[in-house]
Amino acid sequence: MTESFLREQFSGMIIEPGDSNYEAASTVMMRKGAPALIAMAQSPQDVAAALAYAQSNNLLIAVRSGGHSNAGLSTNDGGIIIDVSCMNSIELMDQASGRVRIGAGAQWGDIARRLYDWKLALSSGDTKTVGASGLMLGGGIGWMVRKYGLALDSLMCAEIVTADGRILIADEENNADLFWAIRGGGGNFGIVTGMECIAHPVDDILYGSIVYDPADAPAIVGAWRDYMRTAPDELTTSLLIMPANMMGEHPTTCMVQCCWAGTDAETANAALAPLRAIGKVLSDDITRVPYYQVLEEAHPPQGMRIETNNAFFNELTDEKVEDILTACFEDKRIIQMRGLGGAMGRVSVDATAFAHRNAEVMVLLPTFMPSSVTEAEVETALEPWHRVANGSNGSYVNFLSQVTERERNAAYPPATLARLAEIKAVYDPTNIFNQNLNIPPQI
Ligand SMILES: Cc1cc2nc3c(=O)[nH]c(=O)nc-3n(C[C@H](O)[C@H](O)[C@H](O)COP(=O)(O)OP(=O)(O)OC[C@H]3O[C@@H](n4cnc5c(N)ncnc54)[C@H](O)[C@@H]3O)c2cc1C
Repeated sequence: MTESFLREQFSGMIIEPGDSNYEAASTVMMRKGAPALIAMAQSPQDVAAALAYAQSNNLLIAVRSGGHSNAGLSTNDGGIIIDVSCMNSIELMDQASGRVRIGAGAQWGDIARRLYDWKLALSSGDTKTVGASGLMLGGGIGWMVRKYGLALDSLMCAEIVTADGRILIADEENNADLFWAIRGGGGNFGIVTGMECIAHPVDDILYGSIVYDPADAPAIVGAWRDYMRTAPDELTTSLLIMPANMMGEHPTTCMVQCCWAGTDAETANAALAPLRAIGKVLSDDITRVPYYQVLEEAHPPQGMRIETNNAFFNELTDEKVEDILTACFEDKRIIQMRGLGGAMGRVSVDATAFAHRNAEVMVLLPTFMPSSVTEAEVETALEPWHRVANGSNGSYVNFLSQVTERERNAAYPPATLARLAEIKAVYDPTNIFNQNLNIPPQI
């Protein structure tokens, strides 16, 4: 297919080097790319046309929704970006059941704001500008994960353009294998253009942070872990410890961010009371807000290389807590621990391609380095991370800067990986969707 033929078929904008919007359109949050073409799709038919063009010209294919890939995989050099961000409608299909239809390129901040008008919400992530499909296809761990599960647990049906250009529906009845695979298998199986989800009736929620005296941090980690093992599902929390002066000038910070996804203040306060007693509280700003106000803007530090890593632990042992505290206070690393369990943990391990249902905590350790750093220096800088990750039960595909076989095997246990590869062989036998944590058709 020639480019002029593509232009005849394609209803959206096509951006090329030299166009005034090329530089912005070829750059994503973690990387500046130099693609040959950026196809801003308006419809599944546009996506199919761009895919056919890419394949007939042997172009590397990047798929982009919100552009937040931690590995910078939604742009490339010399290939095509198929961008779905113009497909961003958010529609209520049925108020009673909460069924909503979301364009693949909608952003979670807009979704939360629109759903609030209908007194509904979806479990998502914590950042406004992350794209609906990029987050959904990997999992979606946010402020209501314990109450309503992962974002992908709300997915009922997806419209997806496969490698051969077919526009398929994937749900429990149609292409059920594909439906299983896209819930956790990322962008390996096709380009999602729309999703139907069941949103939950959510009024305002309680949200804020309890900031503790950092001298209490060693005791707080274990006490937080113990309490979250029995806390009500409505309570989702994240413990952050940040050594002094990591992000500008600030003292060492130890805080638990809390979201109570419920309306009853008395029950909420009873559930929060144990957390208010695990250390000396310096401040506490937990207050009632609409859920959409909880989502934040992304502020990646400029001019730095960020290596994002994460690890799931089914049991966060006291020994592992020691490793985490060492990484934090001796190696000066920011540590975030997201409490899991609840609704996320009640879905069976093999129900979707997201297999880490038994994790009680996800530990995140971003490593910030100057952009001039050498690969050898990166390896050295990652040593504290490897000590923390040692003995973990796997990792979350959406928070990874590296996408080698090592990360793939941590993200997918053997049985999940084998099934994903079988499904990949059916829907993408030549592996054209390979700019991702790649699942090849043969393992
Ligand atoms: C600042 C920041 C905050 C984050 N917070 C959270 C959080 O709280 N919780 C959480 O779970 N995750 C979070 N993430 C991780 C996030 O979920 C992933 O990075 C996700 O892949 C980003 O989706 P995107 O659409 O914005 O990114 P993109 O870069 O557009 O897409 C990422 C990848 O997803 C695939 N993809 C995207 N759209 C499609 C599509 N329509 N069809 C097929 N494949 C597609 C492609 O392989 C692409 O490379 C965060 C990331 C960042 C950078």
